[in-house]
Amino acid sequence: MTFLIQPCRQPALICFVIAVFLLQFTATANAQWQQKSFQTLGTQAYIELWTEDSKQAEQLINDVQAEFERINQLMSPYIASSELSLLNREAAKKPVQVSAEMYQLLQRARQISQQSNGAFDITFASVGFYYDYRNHKKPDETVRQTARQYVNYQSVELLKNNTVRFAQPGVKIDLGGIAKGYAVERSIALLAQHGISNALLTAGGDTRLLGDKRGKPWLVAIKHPRQDDKYAAQLPLENSAISTSGDYERYFIEDGVRYHHILDPKTGQSATGLLSVTVTGADTTQTDALSTTLFVLGLKQGMALIEQIDGYDAIFITAERQMHFSSGLSQP
Ligand code: ADP
Ligand code: MG
Repeated sequence: MTFLIQPCRQPALICFVIAVFLLQFTATANAQWQQKSFQTLGTQAYIELWTEDSKQAEQLINDVQAEFERINQLMSPYIASSELSLLNREAAKKPVQVSAEMYQLLQRARQISQQSNGAFDITFASVGFYYDYRNHKKPDETVRQTARQYVNYQSVELLKNNTVRFAQPGVKIDLGGIAKGYAVERSIALLAQHGISNALLTAGGDTRLLGDKRGKPWLVAIKHPRQDDKYAAQLPLENSAISTSGDYERYFIEDGVRYHHILDPKTGQSATGLLSVTVTGADTTQTDALSTTLFVLGLKQGMALIEQIDGYDAIFITAERQMHFSSGLSQP
């Protein structure tokens, strides 16, 4: 450092180069990976970022946690004051105005419903509401058959001025299939705005990578759906999103049947045929919603859908424990 304040007898350009080199050297000496695990949106989250300023890192990690909590307050079905709860209470009686942010996420959910012919449907909650996986509860046959009739994304009417109305009583919505990915994407944007260029953020099964791991790709593991301590695969990734939906996250088994948290809107019962689906692509909101969607669609229809979506790929693990890769991942 003393060198920098001495008059330089070299040509100006060389002095500048030496000064920049020294500055970079001191900065690199302080730079490091900062990490933190935290609980949010009913799941475990983890953040890792590279910074040359540990104070800034601490602040940014707090900001990310606050952003998750803000989204939780807006979209949680368990918080009575959330906009989502307000919709579930009021929107069948009268049009309800929500924030532009909520309205836009409802629009994105609707697009994925249209794209998937209703496999992704936030009104799954009309019947999903009767399941309680922790307490091993499920609706009986008559309740399920009645509630199932209220599952239809078209019943969520998106009107003018961020106003929403449900077409009939009995309709309930839940953003559990998209909100976590949205929160991850928003948080990564926040880090990028503050000059961070290398980070990993993961919440439950939704992960977003910003840049690479400084000179090498991030290695993201896909859990083995039946063996907790094993990976089914590892993917080297940079600057992209990856989400996994599995039948092993929230479930209970009764009489040999696995009741898990991804419901087929057609039946109001847990989707069958796959153990997990992983989706990669640019945007975590999209990979989150698509992994849930493909899980419902199953291998054949799910593969057909993902092949149509530019920049997105998938890995399916079937009930027969076979892995299937979409074309973007199977090319050498
Ligand atoms: P996780 O929440 O474990 O990351 P997913 O991203 O696969 O898992 O999302 C599962 C969640 O999506 C469920 O807990 C529920 O809130 C919601 N969900 C379940 N079935 C559907 C469906 N058919 N369409 C939209 N959302 C769904
Ligand atoms: Mg999902």
